[in-house]
Amino acid sequence: MLTIQQLFQDHFESFEQRHGLSRDMRWAASCLRDCRTPALGSHRIYCPHGHESRLAYNSCRHRVCPKCSTVSRELWLDGWRSRLLNCPHFHVVFTTPPDLLPWWRYNRRRFADALFAAASGALMKLLGDEKYLGARPGLLAALHTWSQSLAAHVHLHVLVTAGGYAPTAGVARWHPAKKDCLLPRKVLMMVFRGRLRAELLAALQRGELTVPPDTSAARLRGLLNRLGRSIWNVKILERYEHGVGVATYLARYLKGGPISNRRLLKFQRDGVRFRCRARSDDTRDGPRGNARTTRTTHLATDEFLLRLLQHVPPRGMRVVRGYGLYAGGQRALLNEARQLLGQVALPAAPPKSPSWQSLCERAGGSGWGRCQTCGTTLLVDYQDASSRAPPGCSRGKTDRLLSC
Ligand SMILES: [Zn+2]
Ligand SMILES: [Zn+2]
Repeated sequence: MLTIQQLFQDHFESFEQRHGLSRDMRWAASCLRDCRTPALGSHRIYCPHGHESRLAYNSCRHRVCPKCSTVSRELWLDGWRSRLLNCPHFHVVFTTPPDLLPWWRYNRRRFADALFAAASGALMKLLGDEKYLGARPGLLAALHTWSQSLAAHVHLHVLVTAGGYAPTAGVARWHPAKKDCLLPRKVLMMVFRGRLRAELLAALQRGELTVPPDTSAARLRGLLNRLGRSIWNVKILERYEHGVGVATYLARYLKGGPISNRRLLKFQRDGVRFRCRARSDDTRDGPRGNARTTRTTHLATDEFLLRLLQHVPPRGMRVVRGYGLYAGGQRALLNEARQLLGQVALPAAPPKSPSWQSLCERAGGSGWGRCQTCGTTLLVDYQDASSRAPPGCSRGKTDRLLSC
């Protein structure tokens, strides 16, 4: 099978000399190139009863690595499956105008903060308004920055509870949203547009934005003025009976990078051929979107690598954020809403994460992590002197954790 890793192994050394890359991009590229190779060292996997023992190369654990995404994606989903409220959810997509892309490229962290704040603020304000819902919803927002052809396409997917929690005359109640309409789309678009413009202008005013080389602060003011009169792409997709389907859809994009190895078709002397969905606008595709029509795209190898690396988020940046009932620190409120919806309260301490063996088995890797002879859970030993522990693992530790 063709892999992204092969491309980085064959081309990255010369590619790096031709292109100025940020520290985050170089780190991601080295992780993608070296994942599960001798460069990252090895660990020993063994049966405690002595039936088997083998060495395996360490994983890089970078969030854009397609090889390392299975366990982290399943862990993320597991956490959210247990937290989501047992009610229908809407899926809303906020897309930023393409004219703002140069500002995103030079200000990824600040731009993402503005986008999250504008979208969540617009939804919380309108849904809190008596005219629409008059209650506090739960929002789970995820940032995506790519289109199917790996071009920059900065948009936010938001999972919104179709209802909210509000005390009425001192009594807590769950207010369900109208069956076929969360909010008027145009009103939501206008509030979002106003908030994102205000966020960016305020950031510019405070000197928090880096001005791209071919433009100026005055031009951004002019651009934002002009964009204030245009229609932005905000979509309220259909309503889902439960949020898990949308969360599963989001999880596919959160870990493992913008393109999976399965979409690679051919490495040619002059570039890379890969599969794309026919529609370039991802935002029209929800979990039930028609993703069956495909086309192939060809990009020069350098262009392919550049496009892929532009989607590496700055280190430590949160690409998923919860608001309202789904915000961190709102456990008490979330539990009250759960009670109203007939769900048991969340435990005070998060439940123990499932083992990597069970996550791999759930993802289709049956037999992983168990002794072929006695079925006992295999243990992992990082103490091998020739090995380097994978990033995030303390050296010299023997434990049951392993990325797969
Ligand atoms: Zn990896
Ligand atoms: Zn055994």
